[in-house]
Amino acid sequence: MSSPDLLLVLGDQLERNSPLLASADPRHAIILMAEVHDESTHVPSHKARTALFVSAMRHCRDDFRAAGWTVDYRPLSSTSSTLAGELRQAIARHAPSHVRIVHPGDHRVLTALLQACPELEVLPDTHFLCSLDDFRRHASSRKQLRMEFFYREMRRRYDVLMDKGQPTGGAWNFDAANRQAFDARGPSVLPPPLAFSPDDVTTQVIGEVQRAFPANPGSLDHFDWPVTPAQAELALQDFLDHRLPQFGRYQDAMWTGQPWLYHSRLSAALNLKLLHPLRVIQQAEARYRRGHAPLAAVEGFIRQILGWREYVRGIYWLHMPAYAESNALAASRPLPAFYWTAQTDMRCLHAAIAQTLEFGYAHHIQRLMVTGLFSLLLGVEPRQVHEWYLAMYVDAVEWVELPNSLGMSQYADGGLMASKPYIASGRYIQRMSDYCQACRYNPAESTGPTACPFTTLYWDFLFRHHDLLRRNPRMLPQLRNAGRFAAETRSAIQSQAETLRNSL
Ligand code: FAD
Ligand code: SF4
Repeated sequence: MSSPDLLLVLGDQLERNSPLLASADPRHAIILMAEVHDESTHVPSHKARTALFVSAMRHCRDDFRAAGWTVDYRPLSSTSSTLAGELRQAIARHAPSHVRIVHPGDHRVLTALLQACPELEVLPDTHFLCSLDDFRRHASSRKQLRMEFFYREMRRRYDVLMDKGQPTGGAWNFDAANRQAFDARGPSVLPPPLAFSPDDVTTQVIGEVQRAFPANPGSLDHFDWPVTPAQAELALQDFLDHRLPQFGRYQDAMWTGQPWLYHSRLSAALNLKLLHPLRVIQQAEARYRRGHAPLAAVEGFIRQILGWREYVRGIYWLHMPAYAESNALAASRPLPAFYWTAQTDMRCLHAAIAQTLEFGYAHHIQRLMVTGLFSLLLGVEPRQVHEWYLAMYVDAVEWVELPNSLGMSQYADGGLMASKPYIASGRYIQRMSDYCQACRYNPAESTGPTACPFTTLYWDFLFRHHDLLRRNPRMLPQLRNAGRFAAETRSAIQSQAETLRNSL
């Protein structure tokens, strides 16, 4: 072959109809795919996350080969391998005339690859529904960015849940019907989500990951994630058939021993590009139009994908690399060790972290209002929080993880992602779950031996950040409540918070 085109496909770019392939001729191109050690160790990636990426890559490699492409596939071997190093070596092996990639999802990766190959041609990522240029245009015409207005624009642009130019049902959201807790009996019988038993490829990968990363966190005992586009499609249909109708109502609810509830489990398949977001959105809308799911559930679900998912990507690329360094609350404490082991007597944290270690999954409210809330109230350095989320979830890719952890959950960006810090006392967790029932702490107490650490730290957070928070009118009701404590109670809470911080 005279100088071929070299096409680099990353582990989260597994769409079979990638724009990269459209840019080349299989007879004169080589696809490069590399399982590099560094991607599982720059943060200690959960074993299930690594296994998912590697297995999905090997299935993708086989599909590319079956479609007539030549694939230079570099399996997990060298412990010093990096993407940039693999690219340099492949350039030396193949002496390509062009080297191309679809825009990576991670700023760190893009920078390293451009350093390794300054001639790298970066194609726009058509998997997303809002291009980076369009998001920049959206942002430049506004003083302040808010997801809600972006989402309305996207609904109009893609004609999703719109009737004659107006939002279907006469409103842009139906939150009043959503976000309920279960009653004392808990969820009724839940249809278990579709599980994909490991095939030969995945079984082989699981063994290799166990051997290559024995010290990394997480279990592989229950690995059942979709690893091909066909499986991802089955997972989508299973969600639409069985869980979508109740999705909105119980979106924020939590329950012991029920990791999935009515959630879709589709984030990893979407992020690896085994599923296209527009298909997911259109299929969900079709269920409403056919009368199979209520509008509130369908709109709530679509907003997560057409709204939040696209919005966080826009924020990430608009503000990187400085975004990763932000720390608006000057938080500096270390992440408690129990985040890596689940060994804590706080039931809510134990449940969310144990489930994360077992499956590499926790749903949004567990991430935001349990693990995220606790580190925010405690004052953990945002970079450590970000690295934990990037390591622990099968769906973790930096473009989506960073704005969610550092911005939405830690308020480290000073309000770019969230109009106010997401803070609450233990009473919120009590309302939304059954965790407090079996806990040795009491969410109503802020001092004394059975005081809930969330509640103590919540009031202390409001005292500590009073001057910064009072500039935000949306914080005034919470600050007013904090202002009602007698001086003596206030200092007892502060002293209990200090003891707590020193004990973790
Ligand atoms: P569902 O609840 O069924 O939601 C449907 C889909 O909507 C998801 O699959 C996802 O693609 C999208 N979605 C929902 N919420 C968000 C959001 N806030 N931002 C972007 N997309 C969203 N999501 C990731 O994909 N990767 C991450 O690394 C990640 N890290 C997070 C860290 C923190 C601290 C928080 C608070 C949220 C994070 N999220 C992340 C968003 C969200 O928690 C997950 O997308 C969701 O829990 C995945 O489970 P699911 O597929 O069952 O989602
Ligand atoms: Fe969590 Fe506090 Fe409830 Fe215990 S009492 S489960 S620590 S919120």
